[in-house]
Amino acid sequence: MSNSAIIFRRTQFNRYSLPLLMGIVEKASKNIPIYLLDSIDSLVDFKKIYKRPILAYSFTTLQMMKVYEEIKEIKSRFNDVYFIAGGPHATADPEGTLALGFNTVFVGEGERTLTDFVDIIEKGGELPDGEIIEDKNEEPVNIDDYYPVCKRHNLCGPMEITRGCFYNCHFCQTPRLFRRTIRHRSIKSVIRGIEKAEHYNGQRLYFLSPNAFSYQSMRAGEINYEAIEELLKSVKDCGVKDLDIAYFPSEIRPECINDRTLDLLEKYCSNKKIAIGIQSGSKPVLKRTCRTSGIEIPLNAVALARSRGFTSHCDFIFGFPDETQEEVDESIEIMTLLIKKYDARIHCHFFMPLPMTPLWNSTPTHLSEKTKDTLNKMRDWGKLDGWWEEQEIESFNIIEWKKLGFIKV
Ligand code: SF4
Repeated sequence: MSNSAIIFRRTQFNRYSLPLLMGIVEKASKNIPIYLLDSIDSLVDFKKIYKRPILAYSFTTLQMMKVYEEIKEIKSRFNDVYFIAGGPHATADPEGTLALGFNTVFVGEGERTLTDFVDIIEKGGELPDGEIIEDKNEEPVNIDDYYPVCKRHNLCGPMEITRGCFYNCHFCQTPRLFRRTIRHRSIKSVIRGIEKAEHYNGQRLYFLSPNAFSYQSMRAGEINYEAIEELLKSVKDCGVKDLDIAYFPSEIRPECINDRTLDLLEKYCSNKKIAIGIQSGSKPVLKRTCRTSGIEIPLNAVALARSRGFTSHCDFIFGFPDETQEEVDESIEIMTLLIKKYDARIHCHFFMPLPMTPLWNSTPTHLSEKTKDTLNKMRDWGKLDGWWEEQEIESFNIIEWKKLGFIKV
């Protein structure tokens, strides 16, 4: 019987991060088997082959309780499974994550720490138990050296072109997960990634970035047009037929929408939709959450995009702490204007109090019946989507889990 394999638990929520994580393991070792697990029943088969399989989870705070229940079930059905965790929740609350039943928790970027862990397995060393592992290296990881590609499973994910964010929206974990550093992938590395994932060639390539047009910029609001054009041109020149940028899983800050960026989209990209974060139509809410783009800038951005033939998919969040009905109504007014005047679509969210963010210790505000009716009507018109109803429940669940001690920060 072989000793071990790393088995990544796949869910609909971590599908973008798995190709990168699996690629790290593949790069670190040619020998250690890597698998994907879609159902815990399949562990039966792995247990027949491996004495102590390593089950890897990457998840957000929203999935925390499901992960906890699942680990409990696995432990009741199988002995000798080793559990590791990483991702946004593990980074934000390592102690709490360890207490969910994990043997090892990885904090922050996993490229180097996961590589070291694989090295221990490869050498047959003793695995840590009950440890939190963090990359303490002063130099941040060079994202150029890692690709969202796992050849053994013919998997490739969206190409991360920028890690971290210059902005400081108080509801968002992104700027806080990577020790407040921002890095851009070089064009050489993007091309190398495309070569590695042969099936990008002739197919659609998606970029991953919190603000697609911040590529190679040095500060908030700066747009490096030359670098963006060089990136897009180089990708097209190497045979990628369809290239998507500024649409899921990447977004664009409204400040970055202008004729020049839309020219670039038109010239090189296939997407006619763009994803724009607006978040609220209320100035006081935007101020309280440090969302600096305000209302005029996004309105002008959507209008310009429409005049150039692009459809805007606009993010709005409801349920912010202390949000009044008046503030909610202001958001609905802006959403209605965007839909009616600019044929925009709304991507609706409910606020989540997430560990590590300035709003972590705050309480969401329930949606009124009146608001729910309006959002449902917009959905019925086919102009609004999102999981706000489920998120409202999950948001209050998070507060409950914290009270019960499942979250320890
Ligand atoms: S919401 Fe977007 S712009 Fe704001 S901090 Fe998060 S990633 Fe950056």
